[in-house]
Amino acid sequence: AKEQGRNSYQFYTEGMQEREVTRLELDKDLDQALANNEFVLHFQPQVDLETGEIHSVEALIRWQHPRRGLLSPVEFIPLAEESGRITDIGRWVVAAACRQLAAWKGTSCKDLRIAINLSGRELDDEHLVDDIRETLEAEHVPANHLEVELTEEIFIQNIEHNRNQLGRLHELGVNLAIDDFGVGYSSLGYLRDFPVDLLKIDRSFITSVTERHDDSVITRAVINLAHNLGIRVIAEGVETEEQLDFLRQHGCNLIQGYLISRPIPAVELEKALEAGLLN
Ligand code: C2E
Ligand code: CA
Ligand code: CA
Ligand code: CA
Repeated sequence: AKEQGRNSYQFYTEGMQEREVTRLELDKDLDQALANNEFVLHFQPQVDLETGEIHSVEALIRWQHPRRGLLSPVEFIPLAEESGRITDIGRWVVAAACRQLAAWKGTSCKDLRIAINLSGRELDDEHLVDDIRETLEAEHVPANHLEVELTEEIFIQNIEHNRNQLGRLHELGVNLAIDDFGVGYSSLGYLRDFPVDLLKIDRSFITSVTERHDDSVITRAVINLAHNLGIRVIAEGVETEEQLDFLRQHGCNLIQGYLISRPIPAVELEKALEAGLLN
């Protein structure tokens, strides 16, 4: 037993070292990633339950790493936040989303809005709002075609600064969504003090919404709360028809999840829309 214990301990530290090496390597490679144009956006449809149409798509970043293949944002966004590179990556995301909106003019995707993710760290940047405004203008894209998803952390840190940033973004015409709503331990009062257009109910509630009483109660309460405040609601992580039925029945405005589509490259999205799929 003692022998085994030691082996498993060794195994554990090797695993940790390996992860640390990977982390350091990725952190170094991130230096070049922007210059080498290694990031891409994939798009996941957000369907309006009233019209049955795709209202918007969420832009989710991936890193086409030269040796490791396509990397998920969970593998490099936290690193980029630590090192501060997230600011430049965020600028790239804004530019890429606006370019995509411009490219979709006159195509089957012309009415789509794009929702981008911004972390609290990105909101810290004083130039963010001006950058977004200038990029929209340069691409001749109306601001209301861009949406921004932010997590509740923005209600907890730098509150004054964040409220100012969001106020300015909202004034531009950019729509604001609170992502992963319900898991961030923030006070509901912030829904009153910030210009919020959309609440995105976290996937952890949706996964068991038809099986667990608690999750169904919370989901219905969030929908009612939001509606009474004049805020629309989207559910993320919808994977089954049963979840969709529940959400439709309780007045959720939009849904997003594998049931409709995984996040896909722009070309695939365009093809699917032209073929009349996804509706
Ligand atoms: P998020 O904003 O909560 O994005 C939703 C995540 O859930 C995405 O993972 C998406 O692929 C996944 N997902 C969507 N539908 C389903 C479903 O039906 N079932 C399941 N199991 N999962 C589903 P992804 O693309 O790996 O992104 C992970 C996180 O990385 C995002 O979470 C977001 O916080 C962050 N992220 C992605 N792109 C960006 C970006 O451009 N900037 C920043 N700052 N963060 C980003
Ligand atoms: Ca999101
Ligand atoms: Ca989310
Ligand atoms: Ca989530």
